[in-house]
Amino acid sequence: MDLKEIYSEQDLSKNRNRRSKCPKISFEVFPPKNNDISNLFEELRILKKYNPSLVSLTYGASGTSKRFSTEVLKSILDLELNLMPHFTCICTSQTEIEKHIREIENLGIENILALRGDLPEGLNPCTLDFEHANNLVEYIHQKSDLSIGVAGYPEGHFESNSIANDILHLKKKVDSGASAIFTQLFFDNNKFYKFQELTQKVGINIPIIAGIMPVRNLKQIEKMTLISKVKIPEKLRNQLEKFPKDCKKIGMEFAISQCQDLIANGVKGLHFFTLNHSDIVSEILENIL
Ligand code: FAD
Repeated sequence: MDLKEIYSEQDLSKNRNRRSKCPKISFEVFPPKNNDISNLFEELRILKKYNPSLVSLTYGASGTSKRFSTEVLKSILDLELNLMPHFTCICTSQTEIEKHIREIENLGIENILALRGDLPEGLNPCTLDFEHANNLVEYIHQKSDLSIGVAGYPEGHFESNSIANDILHLKKKVDSGASAIFTQLFFDNNKFYKFQELTQKVGINIPIIAGIMPVRNLKQIEKMTLISKVKIPEKLRNQLEKFPKDCKKIGMEFAISQCQDLIANGVKGLHFFTLNHSDIVSEILENIL
C-alpha cells in the first residue's frame, strides 16, 4: 500500500467508547550491527501485532554505510510487512540511485523515504549528483512510481539558520513529488503543532507523521539530540537524572502522554523510532490504542 492510500483514511480506536480517531502506526528499524537479523525478526513479529501501516528501514544512518541487503528486504517482506526503505543521495551517483530505485521496485516495494543524508564519517566532501533531498525526490518521482516520504524538522534542521527557511526547503520537496512528511524526534508537542501551522501557511498539505522516540536512558537521548536542534524538556531531564534506574518507565510514561496529546489533536500518524526493541513501544501502544 502506498503512502497516499495509507494516510487517506483513519481508523477508529479499538476503544469504541472513546470514539476518537486513531492515527496510523509505523515503526523504524535499522540494520543490526553484527548482521544477525534473528533478533530483529523476533521484534518485528511482536510489533506486527499492532498492525503497522509501514515499517521503515534506515540507510547509512549516523554517518555509517549500513543498509539492509536485498536478501534481508526479501525476508522482511515475507513477514507481510509494508516496507519503506530509506535512501540517501549524499556522495551517491545518479547511476547508483537509479540502480537502487529499480532494486526496490523489483521487490514490489511501493514506498521510499528520500533523504539527503549526513556526510559519512571519514569522507571528505564528495562530488554530488544531487545536492539536496528535493533533487532526489524530483528524480525518483520522474523515474518511478514509488510513493515518496521526506524528512521534516519541527525544531528546524541543525544546519538551517531559521525554521522559515527550512520550511521553504521542505516545500520544495513536497512540490517535487513527496506524499508524506516524517518528522525528526521531538518532545515538545507545541513545536510540532507550530510546525504544522507554518507548513500549512506555505501551502504544504500532505500528511505530517510525528516521529516518536521512547527514551530508554539519558545518555542515549543526549547522544541523539547532540547534533540535532532537539531540546530535552527540563522536567524530563531532571526526572531521568534523579531516577536513573527508572529511565525506561519515565520514558514510557512521557511517550504515552505525548502520543495521547497528539492523538487528541488529530495527528495522522505516529512513527516510532524503535531502535530495534519492541518492549517500550509495545507498552506505549497498549496504552494509547
Ligand atoms: P534536505 O532536505 O536536503 O535538507 C538539508 C539541509 O539543507 C536543511 O538545512 C535544509 O533547510 C537545507 N536545504 C534543503 N533543500 C535546500 C535547497 N534546495 N537549497 C538550499 N538549502 C536547502 N539519515 C541517514 O543517513 N539515513 C537514514 O536512514 C535517515 N533516516 C531519517 C529518518 C527521519 C524520519 C529523519 C527526520 C531523518 C533521517 N535521517 C537519516 C537524517 C537526515 O539524512 C539528515 O537530517 C540530513 O542532515 C538531512 O536530510 P534531509 O533529507 O532532510 O535533507
